[in-house]
Amino acid sequence: MKNATFIKAEAKEQIIDLLREMDCYRFDEDGIDLWLDMWERANDKQITEIAEKSPYYDGKCKIVFPEKFPREFDVYGYYNFSDWLRNYVDRNLTEVRFNNLSWKDLSMCYGVLDRYDALRNYRDDNNIAIKEIMVLLDEDESIINNFTDSFERMRTKINNAYDAFSNRQRRSLVNVNGNYYYKEEYNNSPARVANILAEVLNAYDILKTQFLTENGARVLKDHFPEIRFAKGQKLSKAVNAIATKYGLKQDSEWEKEFAKFANAVNPLEVVKWTVISWHPVDYLTFCFGNSWSSCHTIDKKNVRKIKLTNSRSSITNYIDPENGRFYGEKAAGALSYMFDSSSFIYYTVSNKYEGKHYEEQPKESRIVFALSDDYSTLLQGRVYPQCNDDSPDETPYKIPREIVQRVICNSLNVPNLWTIKRGSNICYDYVRSVGVHYPDWEDERNNKCNISYRGGQPKVINVGHDAICPNCGAVHTYVSSLNCYDCDPMV
Ligand SMILES: [Zn+2]
Repeated sequence: MKNATFIKAEAKEQIIDLLREMDCYRFDEDGIDLWLDMWERANDKQITEIAEKSPYYDGKCKIVFPEKFPREFDVYGYYNFSDWLRNYVDRNLTEVRFNNLSWKDLSMCYGVLDRYDALRNYRDDNNIAIKEIMVLLDEDESIINNFTDSFERMRTKINNAYDAFSNRQRRSLVNVNGNYYYKEEYNNSPARVANILAEVLNAYDILKTQFLTENGARVLKDHFPEIRFAKGQKLSKAVNAIATKYGLKQDSEWEKEFAKFANAVNPLEVVKWTVISWHPVDYLTFCFGNSWSSCHTIDKKNVRKIKLTNSRSSITNYIDPENGRFYGEKAAGALSYMFDSSSFIYYTVSNKYEGKHYEEQPKESRIVFALSDDYSTLLQGRVYPQCNDDSPDETPYKIPREIVQRVICNSLNVPNLWTIKRGSNICYDYVRSVGVHYPDWEDERNNKCNISYRGGQPKVINVGHDAICPNCGAVHTYVSSLNCYDCDPMV
């Protein structure tokens, strides 16, 4: 490895800073030196024979290049827009009220009246004081206050309002999403169109696409016959045409909400820094996501303040329910990968980053890959943060795998031809896993992890290594810390 001494000296400083920041490990400089010697011995061959041969080698154990990624169709953005459209009526038309009561108020009052009647009948039938009933039913004392004459007056008022609604309803009112409006005002308003559009977007899965299909165009034509729609037209353009024709743009929020919608349904290519790394710090920071984490994180106190927004139920065992974060129960896994000679870290970083220390940047996505000794067989571990093992969409796995395969073959100057075998059983057959990492490719739920190979048969890949305590230097298999059990300050 070129510059090994320099790389190790720099990495040592970085690791010391990192562990101090984590504030949950005991270590000294000798311990870090030991780590780096172990890392160098394990990874020197791959770094020299693959990393350094790449035209994108950064001189410090990483291959870095900008890569274009397709951004996925954003279904949530699509539904957020249809929800916003549904509320268009509320925002733009005045709800009809009688005696200052809306239809929803009335419904609620009727609920209270029903309870009142039920309680009163119970009292009459059972010759029991109302207070005792309240105790029996464990009811709020405040409800008792309603059992007065004024409640009867309220009942009259409610009944009058109900009659008024019923009489007017037949002639002039329309119920939209549970509220009443004057029919004439509603029928001639953009709000009606917004409401229909919301229903159409919600009802037809064929519209969830950037470009209209023939059926998609027909559905829109059926509902908005005055506008021309064509197969291949952008959905956002079609929606814009509807909005222009029927005056939807008069809503003050239209511009902002439509821009978000157009953004969601028109997937673009986004450029990201793509990094293939054997750098020692990357093994330690491989779970430092921009908005995600995992049980392998070394940040056991969550000093990085990661808030998990959506976690799958299957991993909630590893999550602190109060703070919604991972405990780092498998923290030692970082060392398992650092000290083996097969695994390396693939990740992406925002293209806004202009520096050179990619290993210190939040990772937008990350995958652990591992190569057999002869570089003919490649293991692809689980994709983070998607982890969409159950989804039919292979893209989150396929794109990075093809990038890594391409880089390897370019460095080795061999044809980029691979055969792929997917699933936990295959991975179990061809990966010999030792050490203290969690082999997510063996997880039965995951049939996306895979082995790909060049030549006749896949070779066995050895992954993982025992950890080394950075305080006492002991080789250990204590999974939940970088330290051994005896040195773990969190015990
Ligand atoms: Zn120790």
